[in-house]
Amino acid sequence: MRIFKFGGASVKDADSVKNVAEILKATEDKNIVVVVSAMGKTTNLLENVIAEYLKNNTATCNEFVTTFKEYHLEIVNELFENTNHLIYQKTAKLFDKMVSFLKVNKSKNHAFVYDQVVGYGELVSSTIVSEYLTEFGLKNELLDVRKCIITDDNHRDASVDWKITQQKISEKVNTSGLSVTQGFLGSENTNNFTTTLGREGSDYTAAIFAYCLNAESVTIWKDVPGVLNADPRYFTKTLLLNRISYREAIELAFYGASVIHPKTLQPLQRKEIPLFVKSFLNPTASGTCVGKGDRIDPETSCFILKKDLVLISLSSLDFSFMMEDNIGDVFKWLYTYKMKVELIQNSAISFSVCVNDKFGNLERLLAKLREKFRVKWNENVTLYTIRHFNPTEVKALAENKNVLLKQESKETVQLVIKE
Ligand code: ADP
Ligand code: ASP
Ligand code: MG
Repeated sequence: MRIFKFGGASVKDADSVKNVAEILKATEDKNIVVVVSAMGKTTNLLENVIAEYLKNNTATCNEFVTTFKEYHLEIVNELFENTNHLIYQKTAKLFDKMVSFLKVNKSKNHAFVYDQVVGYGELVSSTIVSEYLTEFGLKNELLDVRKCIITDDNHRDASVDWKITQQKISEKVNTSGLSVTQGFLGSENTNNFTTTLGREGSDYTAAIFAYCLNAESVTIWKDVPGVLNADPRYFTKTLLLNRISYREAIELAFYGASVIHPKTLQPLQRKEIPLFVKSFLNPTASGTCVGKGDRIDPETSCFILKKDLVLISLSSLDFSFMMEDNIGDVFKWLYTYKMKVELIQNSAISFSVCVNDKFGNLERLLAKLREKFRVKWNENVTLYTIRHFNPTEVKALAENKNVLLKQESKETVQLVIKE
């Protein structure tokens, strides 16, 4: 069994979907689970639908819904010559379901509404891909991932219930055929509402299937040649990493190398399932293999950055030191307001934490912190991480930049920079 994951960029238009079919046709192995993401930037578009809906901006919300439908129908029109093809009914049914949810829903719980709506990106995309593969001659079964991946009800960032998921996946997946399913989604066990695993979570979906099926390998198909030693959106000179150990890949993903979702690697490492990161534009090239063994080949420094973070610096109001009790409170509130902690640094009288305000709770957190601490903060900061650094590179990176904080260990240096 192998697991293939095709992300948004690999199914962004009709030609891309055709390319996916070609890639699948070229593989001899037919025992494959194909995990697909929403097409192109659909998830962002649906986030706009949700935001406008919750603000009761019906007209703007409807405009975004129309864009969503038109985008997919254009792809469908290009892929299917027969205007009576079943795909038209299938996509129309999904559009209707989404719209009727928006009509009947009474909940104002943002995270809940988000999951019920955003999932249509993956549901529509997988339906189109599955139908197109059939049309192309690749017999396949469309699996509803919500019947396979069972989670808690922590909407937008759900945790997998591995025991039930293992059981469901073993029951539902035909291990001798080609299955197509949705990335990113799951469902909670009480009311079967849709949940999501966090943005960019489809890589993780692939790993969940691989783990539960004891797969031979996972391949994630990307618009880059593999894992590079630096984010190509911000660095002009990059180097392809041919091999990386699980440990190294976990570190890179954790620090923000967004080419692999950070939760993907540990389930694979546990069962020593290799992960291939390959280019869908050049499918025969070898790409990157993440597996057991040597740290990184070729040996090189790696540059990672995370943007739009907030650096918060605290000191006590009552001359107490920043010790267990104070720091304990800080962490309790960071957890309450769902802040993702990227870096911490403390001294006797101050404590700095760099966070990602994923859920827009900054104001509330700051208000809480002000009750106990003197609070300073900086928004829109960037966290640069260099693994296996050399001092010259660090110096060059920091040149002419406003470095707010620096932290160094044997392997890694991190700089918080106000751009
Ligand atoms: P998809 O969602 O289509 O699966 P992503 O957009 O999540 O793909 O991941 C691919 C993107 O990750 C690349 O286009 C690239 O801009 C970015 N990226 C960030 N860091 C790296 C890196 N170290 N190596 C390769 N790509 C990277
Ligand atoms: N479609 C989701 C997102 O864009 C999940 C994914 O693509 O991995 O975040
Ligand atoms: Mg993505």
